Parts: sequence; C-alpha cells; structure tokens
Amino acid sequence: MISHETFNLICWAWIAVGVIIFPILLKVTQPYGRHSKSNLGPMINNRLGWFLMELPALVIFGYLVSFKANLLNVLVLLPAILWGLHYIHRVLIFPLQIRTARKKIPALIVLLAFIFNIINGFLNGYWFVYYATGYNSGLLIDLRLITGVILFLTGSVINKYHDLLLIKLRPATGDGYKIPYGGLFKYVSCPNFLGEIISWTGFALVAFNLPALSFLIWTLINLTTRALDHHRWYNKEFFEYDKKRKAIIPYLL
Ligand code: NDP
Repeated sequence: MISHETFNLICWAWIAVGVIIFPILLKVTQPYGRHSKSNLGPMINNRLGWFLMELPALVIFGYLVSFKANLLNVLVLLPAILWGLHYIHRVLIFPLQIRTARKKIPALIVLLAFIFNIINGFLNGYWFVYYATGYNSGLLIDLRLITGVILFLTGSVINKYHDLLLIKLRPATGDGYKIPYGGLFKYVSCPNFLGEIISWTGFALVAFNLPALSFLIWTLINLTTRALDHHRWYNKEFFEYDKKRKAIIPYLL
C-alpha cells in the first residue's frame, strides 16, 4: 500500500504536469477530430480509438472499487455509481453513436489518452480503496453530496444532449461539418465541453479528494483549450458564424 502522504505527492505531481501542459495546449491544437493530422504516424479507426483510449478508466477504476473498496460506504458507492454511469456510456455507447465511420484518429493520440486514463483511473480508484473515510451524517456533508450529484447529472445531460446534436449534424455515413444550432449553442461553440466540466465539478464535490480534483483540473485544461481551438475554427470556416457566441462559457470566454 502506498502511504497517504506519498499518494498525495503523486497527485500533486500529476496536477503539476497538467499545469505545465496548459500553456502548451494553448499554442498547440490537439490533433484529432476536425484538427486531425495525418503526419503523426499510424492512424487507427476512430470508433476503435475512442473505445481503446477510454477503456482503462472503466476497467481500472471498476476493478479497484468493485473488488477492493468498501461499497457499503456511501462515500464510496455514490462516486462509484457516477463514475460508472459516465464511463459505461463513454466506452460502450459513445463510440457507437459517433458518425465517423470513415475517419481515422492518430494512434499517438489514442496512446496518450490511454496512458492518461490508466493514471486517472488508478488514482481515482486507489483513493477509495485505501483512504476513504466512513460516512457520518451531517448537514454539511449531505449538502455537499446532494449538490455534487445534481451538478454531475446536470452536466451529464448538457454534455450528452449537445454531443448528440453535434453527431446528428452529419448523415450516418457522411463527412464534413456544419454550424450547430439549438440548446446552449446559442451562447457557446462547445456546450458539450461545458457540460463535461460541470459533471466533473460535481464528481469532485462528491468524492472530495485530490484525485478527483486532479481530474477536474485536467478536464478544464483539455477542454477549455480544445473549445478555444474549435471556436477559432468555426469563425474561420463559416463567415456567417454568430460573432456573439463565445467558446465555452456564455458571455465570458
Ligand atoms: P467534439 O465536439 O469535437 O466532437 C463530438 C462529435 O461530434 C464528434 O463525433 C465530431 O466528429 C462531431 N462533430 C463535432 N462538431 C461537429 C460539426 N460542427 N458538424 C458535424 N459533426 C460534428 O468533441 P470531442 O470529439 O473532442 O470529444 C467527445 C466527447 O469526449 C465530449 O463529450 C467531450 O466532452 C469528451 N472529452 C472529455 C475530455 C476530458 O478531459 N474529460 C477530453 C476530451 C473529450 P469528428 O470527430 O469527426 O470531428
């Protein structure tokens, strides 16, 4: 067993890696989807890529929490359910929903995301095995859990609803991009990313630990930079693009 102090140090180091990468991601566009590049070595099927890169988060966290942690503790059970809801969808449903049949993703991106999900799934799962405290009912803790669950579910609905609006812009076997309309697209170019950030904010409140905080920080770094890239791309591609739309936070960013 890793001592709690060493584990916390690992989490802080992991957060530091994200913070160092942030300014790089502000300059370098993540090369997948519309920004994909074919000069990054081998490419693999897009659906398969999504399945593979997200799989470790489901398997590693699932194994640790199901077989090693105390699921009778509500402070373990609740975050485990939220994580499971998200990753069962992301690994098993999302890759089947996307209409990117003929598209490929750089194997390098899949590998990097695969490694990220190994670390993230491990840190988040391991914490619940060895460091979770017991549940003591109290107003503050209950408010925290209720707020966290509401945020998680609201964020998930926002994320999945807008992902589906985007996916349906394209015919089942088609290609290309259109301007998305409906829902929060009135305000921002990437409401699906906004939903994802809200979800992991809720999860961090429920889990209330360093690994969940580190995942939230990484999500913020990944998705705000990707939203800024998408937003610039829409403005460049479509002259009629609504200039009042922001990238990810209505009226602000
Ligand atoms: P995108 O918004 O880039 O794309 C989502 C899907 O919709 C893709 O299949 C994309 O096709 C398609 N699409 C997007 N825009 C259009 C358009 N204008 N016209 C037609 N089709 C479109 O999301 P990502 O692929 O980056 O991410 C997918 C999910 O993964 C999101 O829910 C995101 O929140 C989550 N994610 C979470 C991260 C985290 O750190 N927690 C990191 C990265 C993603 P195509 O792929 O061909 O562009």
